[in-house]
Amino acid sequence: MKNILFVMLATLATPACAALNIFACEPEWGALARELGGDKASVYVASTALQDPHRIEARPSLIARARSADLAICTGAELEIGWMPLVQTQSGNARIQAGQPGYFEAAAVVPLLEKPARVDRSMGDVHAAGNPHIHLDPRNIARVAQALGERMAALDPSNKNEYETKTRDFLERWREATARWEKLAAPLKGMPLVVYHKNMTYMIQWLGMREVANLEPKPGLPPSTGYLTELLAKLQREPAKAIVRSAYNDPRPGEWLAERAKIPSIAIAFTVGGTPQAKDLFSLYDDTLERLLAAAK
Ligand SMILES: [Zn+2]
Repeated sequence: MKNILFVMLATLATPACAALNIFACEPEWGALARELGGDKASVYVASTALQDPHRIEARPSLIARARSADLAICTGAELEIGWMPLVQTQSGNARIQAGQPGYFEAAAVVPLLEKPARVDRSMGDVHAAGNPHIHLDPRNIARVAQALGERMAALDPSNKNEYETKTRDFLERWREATARWEKLAAPLKGMPLVVYHKNMTYMIQWLGMREVANLEPKPGLPPSTGYLTELLAKLQREPAKAIVRSAYNDPRPGEWLAERAKIPSIAIAFTVGGTPQAKDLFSLYDDTLERLLAAAK
């Protein structure tokens, strides 16, 4: 009984000293909020690296968490269109509705790639606002950190100095790390890759790699055997170095292709928690580059 009471008190003590109650749609934004908020932020992350961020279920536990949030941080650009609007409505929390200061979209402060000129249903699950998978280019993380730090300070002015200091400190460490990653990743330049979804586009562009094929015939559509056979023929004409999937993707199509094309099939964390090594944003990048460099050899 004494132990139970202690655990209850310990659990209650955490949010009591935190000023800002944060609901993060994806692990990368939860990790960033922790960097910028420290002990002033209590962060709940709505999805894990093993879940497809396009397809999260708006279950009652998420809605309950959203109800008490001061700030919801999502990718935006329609990534969460299948679940977040429902969470927002069902939560009844006026603070985190679209257009309110308590709803922050990371994609809104980043120049988006691949904005389609037109979208129709025949194209599959195309992201009409542009590619929302922005977090694997560190320059985008820096843009988001700057804007998010300002937003946190505006929502919790009593701790403004704290957020400003933490944001400055994060950006400085992040700039140094980015320079280090760019040096380290030099051998990846020109590396031809097969990807699973258009979710590594920003990293490919940042490091000058090349996407030669995509395992999805159309965005959101898993490959058929016929399509994989076509890809195999394509890879025989235009070889790739590796097939890269995210932790949440089904490994089987890539492994089928890898075996026949005689190239490695590798998984990257994609976001924080996707591998045991990817514990925060810094180690996410360290680990991802390490895995790509091993495949480039
Ligand atoms: Zn997508």
